[in-house]
Amino acid sequence: MSADTVYDCVVIGAGVQGSFTAYSLAKKNKKTLLLEQFVLPHSRGSSHGQTRIIRKAYDQDFYAHMLDECYELWAQLEKEAGVRLYRQTGLLVMGPENSRYYELVKSTLQKNKVPMVALTKENFSKHIPQVHLSEGHGAVVEVPAGVLFADRALKTAQAQFQKLGGVIRDKEMVTDIKPGPVVTVVTPSGVHRATSVVITAGPWANRLLAHTGLQLPLEVEKINVCYWKEKVPGSYDIRKRFPCFIQTECEESKEHIYGLPSNEYPGLMKICYHAGFEADPDKRDQQTNTSDIDILKRYVARCLPGLEPKPAVVESCLYTVTPDRHFVLDRHPIYNNIVIGAGFSGHGFKFGPIIGKLLSELTLGEVPSYDISPFRIRRFQDKTKSAL
Ligand SMILES: Cc1cc2nc3c(=O)[nH]c(=O)nc-3n(C[C@H](O)[C@H](O)[C@H](O)COP(=O)(O)OP(=O)(O)OC[C@H]3O[C@@H](n4cnc5c(N)ncnc54)[C@H](O)[C@@H]3O)c2cc1C
Repeated sequence: MSADTVYDCVVIGAGVQGSFTAYSLAKKNKKTLLLEQFVLPHSRGSSHGQTRIIRKAYDQDFYAHMLDECYELWAQLEKEAGVRLYRQTGLLVMGPENSRYYELVKSTLQKNKVPMVALTKENFSKHIPQVHLSEGHGAVVEVPAGVLFADRALKTAQAQFQKLGGVIRDKEMVTDIKPGPVVTVVTPSGVHRATSVVITAGPWANRLLAHTGLQLPLEVEKINVCYWKEKVPGSYDIRKRFPCFIQTECEESKEHIYGLPSNEYPGLMKICYHAGFEADPDKRDQQTNTSDIDILKRYVARCLPGLEPKPAVVESCLYTVTPDRHFVLDRHPIYNNIVIGAGFSGHGFKFGPIIGKLLSELTLGEVPSYDISPFRIRRFQDKTKSAL
C-alpha cells in the first residue's frame, strides 16, 4: 500500500478480538490494516496460550444465544482453513445447590435446550471419580462444551485475513489517534489513514482511548495460570475426555475456580482462579501476589485428589475487567467512526468470531446481529471519563 492509501478500516490490536474483526471486515471486501505493537505471535496480552473453554453455561441468556452462531462460525473457520480448533470435552459445573448463580446457569442450559446431564451425589463419583464433589453441591455436565485451541485459532484467523488481502503490520505500536472524517493513526513507522478505526487493544484499551478523550472503567488484572501434575499420568487427560470444569463457589473461595483437562503440557492440568491482581500491562511481572495460588492449592488438595496440590508450572495472562464483567462493544460516544471492543473480563475468547462480526457491523453502520445493549458504553454513565 502506498503512503496515501486510505483504508476502509484500521484495527488496532491483533489479539483474538482484533484478529477476528479484521477477518470479518476483509470478508466484506473492506480494505483493512491490522496493527500490533509486538512481534506476532506474543504472550504479553490476553489471547495467548494453547487452550480456552467454550461453553453456554452462563447466568445470562444473551451469552448463550450468541453461542449458537459462535459454534457454527468456529466450525466454518475449521473447514475453511482445514485445521482443528475445537475439541468437545463437556463442562462440569459444580456449585452450592440452590445458590443463585448455580441455579441461573442450570436454567440457561435448560431454556436453551443444551444437552446436559445432572449428576446426583450418588452417581457423581461413579462417573467422575477424579473429582470430589463438595457437600451440599450440585453438579451438571454441559455436554457440547469443550476446548478451543487458542494460539492456533489466532494464527488461523490472521492467516485467513491475509489470504483475503488484509494487511498485518506487527511490531508497530500506535502512539496517537487523530479523530476526523478520515482518522489518522500514528505509529513510529509513519501514519495510516482510514475512514474507520476499531480499537481492540485489550489491557491497553484506555491508553489508546486517552487519545480520543475517553476513559472506560476497566481494571487490568494479572492472572496466575497454573498447571498441576497428575499423580497417575493420563488421569485428567483431554484424550480421555476428562471435562473442563467450573466450580462456582466453595469453602476455599467465593470466586469461580476453573480447569481444563491436561493437553498442552502432558500430564499437567490447567486450573486457575477467575480473578487476579491489579497490574500495569507493561509491568505485569512486577505484580507478584500469589494468594490466589494458595486458594487453588487448598481446593486441589480437597477436590482433585489425583493432582499434586502444588502447581508445576505458573504462567501469566491478563484480564481486562468491567464493573459488571460484561463486554464493551460500541461506537465511540463522540466519534462515530471509532469503534471499541474492550473489557472482555476473562471470558471473551470463545466469542471471538461473533465479536469480530459485531464490531465489523458497527464499523460499517449495519444493524448489529444481536442486541448489544448490555455492552453499550452508556451503561457506565457516571464511571466514564470524557475530556470532551
Ligand atoms: C488465563 C486466562 C484464561 C482465560 N480463559 C478463557 C476461557 O476459558 N474462555 C474464554 O472465552 N475466554 C477466556 N479468557 C479470556 C480471553 O482470553 C480474553 O477475553 C481475550 O483473549 C481478550 O482478547 P483481546 O483481543 O481483547 O485482548 P488481547 O489479546 O490482549 O489483544 C489486544 C492486542 O492489542 C495490542 N495492542 C495494545 N495496544 C496497542 C497499540 N498501542 N498499538 C498496537 N497494538 C496494541 C496488544 O499487544 C494485544 O496483542 C481467558 C483469559 C485469561 C488471561
